[in-house]
Amino acid sequence: MNAPLASDLPDEAAASRWEWESLNGSIPEELRRHIAEIVAREAGMLTALFYDTLLKDPEAAAMLSHELVSHRLSRSLQRWLVDLFPPDAAPEFADAARLQRRVGEVHARIRVPLHLVTRGARVLKGGIARCLSQTSLPRDALVETLSYVSHILDLAMELMATAFIQGTERATRNEEAYRLFSLGQDASLEREAQRAALLEWLQSLLFAVAGRNEATRLQPIGRSEFGLWMQHRASVMFGGIPALQRIIQLMREIDEEILPGIERGNGIGAALQRLQAHANDIKFLIGDAFQAVIGLENGRDALTRTLNRRFMPSIFAREIALATQSGRGFAALMIDFDHFKSINDTFGHSGGDVVLSRGAELIMDAVRLSDFVFRYGGEEFLVLLVEADANLAMRTAERIRTAVEACHFSVGEERSLRVTTSIGVAVFDGHPDYTHLMERADKALYAAKKAGRNRTILG
Ligand code: GH3
Ligand code: MG
Ligand code: MG
Repeated sequence: MNAPLASDLPDEAAASRWEWESLNGSIPEELRRHIAEIVAREAGMLTALFYDTLLKDPEAAAMLSHELVSHRLSRSLQRWLVDLFPPDAAPEFADAARLQRRVGEVHARIRVPLHLVTRGARVLKGGIARCLSQTSLPRDALVETLSYVSHILDLAMELMATAFIQGTERATRNEEAYRLFSLGQDASLEREAQRAALLEWLQSLLFAVAGRNEATRLQPIGRSEFGLWMQHRASVMFGGIPALQRIIQLMREIDEEILPGIERGNGIGAALQRLQAHANDIKFLIGDAFQAVIGLENGRDALTRTLNRRFMPSIFAREIALATQSGRGFAALMIDFDHFKSINDTFGHSGGDVVLSRGAELIMDAVRLSDFVFRYGGEEFLVLLVEADANLAMRTAERIRTAVEACHFSVGEERSLRVTTSIGVAVFDGHPDYTHLMERADKALYAAKKAGRNRTILG
C-alpha cells in the first residue's frame, strides 16, 4: 500500500538508501529483533533520559518545557524510536526516509536549532548502547548491534538534517521576500508616520503629567502605537541593525526608569528632561535606521551607486558554483585609492566624495555589464569579473587604473585634482570559500602599495 515512487525522494537520498539497505541486509535477523525488543521496552526510559539531558540547556529548556510540547514530543519521540527499530521486519528505507524528512521539516518550522537535535540523537544513542551492553549478548554480537544502532541513527539524522536545511532555507527566503515587500512600501512616508506617532505619544504623556493626579497612569512607550510598531514591524523592516537595538533599549529605559520616577512624583523636572533627551535620541536613530533601509532599497550604495557589499557572499557563491561547473574561471580586483586621506585633508570630505562617486563611474565604465562592482569599504572597491582569466583581469585592471589616472576630478569652482589607484588582482583557483580569493587580491593590493602605488599586481 502506498508504495512510494522513487521520485518521492530527492536524489541525495540514493546513497543513503544503498547504505540503509546494506545495513539491514547484513544484520542477522535475531540481532535486529533483539534491538527492537530492547528499544520498545526502554522507549519510555530513553525519552526521559533525552528530556533530562536537554532540559539542562536553557535554550532547549525554553523550547521543551511547555507541557503540551513535552507531552506531544515524548509520545512522538517514542514512536520515532520504535519506527526506526520496528519489531516485526526491517524498516523500509522509503518509509524511514519520509519520516525523517517530516521531522526535519517540523524542526525547521518551529526553529529547533540543529545542534540540539544532534545532541538529542547522541543522548539516545548512548542510552540504547548502555541498554544493549547490559544484556547477555556475546561480545561479537554486541559489537555488531552497537554498530548497527549507531549507523541507523546517524543515517536518520542525515536525512533529517537535509530536510531541515531545505526547510530553513525556504523560511529564510520567505522572510527576505517579506522584508523586501516591507521595504517596497514607501519608506519615507513610513518614517514620517512613525515620527508623528512618537511625537503624539510624547505630547499626550506631557498632558497627562501636567494634569495628573494620584490615579493617573502614564502610557508606557512600549504599549504606544509607536512602541508596538517598533517592536513588531520595525524588526522585520530593519532586520536587526544596531540602531534598532538601541531604540528598543531607550524605550525600555523610559518605561522602567523614567516613567515610574515621574509617577512617584520625585524629581519631575529632571525626569522630564531625560525623557525629552531619550525621545530626541530615538527620533534621530529612526532617521538613521530608515536611511539605511532606503539605501538598501535598491541594493546600491547611496554615494557611488555600486553594489552593497552585503550581496558579496551570495554573488560570489553563485559565481563559484558556476565556475566549478563550467570550468571557466572568474577574477577579483581589489581597488584602493592612493593617499585618500590627504585628498580629504586638502579638499575636504565633500571633495573626497566627488572623487569616490566619479571614480566609481570610471570603474563601472571600464568593466562589462555582466561584471559586479561592489563598494568594499570607505575608498575601496571590489570588482568581480565573470568568465575572466588572468590576462583579461590584468587588462581590465589596467584600464581602470589608467582611466582614473587620466581623469581631472572637478571639486568646487575651477578646482580639479588628479588621483591614482592601486589594484590587486586574483583569479579563481578552485577554492570553494570566496574569502580565500579576497585574501589573495588583498595581498596583491598590499604588494602594489608597497611597490610605490599607482600600479596593478597579479596575486
Ligand atoms: P593608501 O594609499 O595607503 O591607501 O592611503 P590612504 O590615505 O588612502 O589610506 P587608507 O586607505 O587607510 O584611508 C582611507 C581614507 O578614506 C580614510 C577615510 O577618511 C577616507 N574615507 C573613507 N570613506 C570615505 C567616504 O565615504 N568619503 C570620503 N570623503 N572619505 C572617505
Ligand atoms: Mg583603504
Ligand atoms: Mg587608500
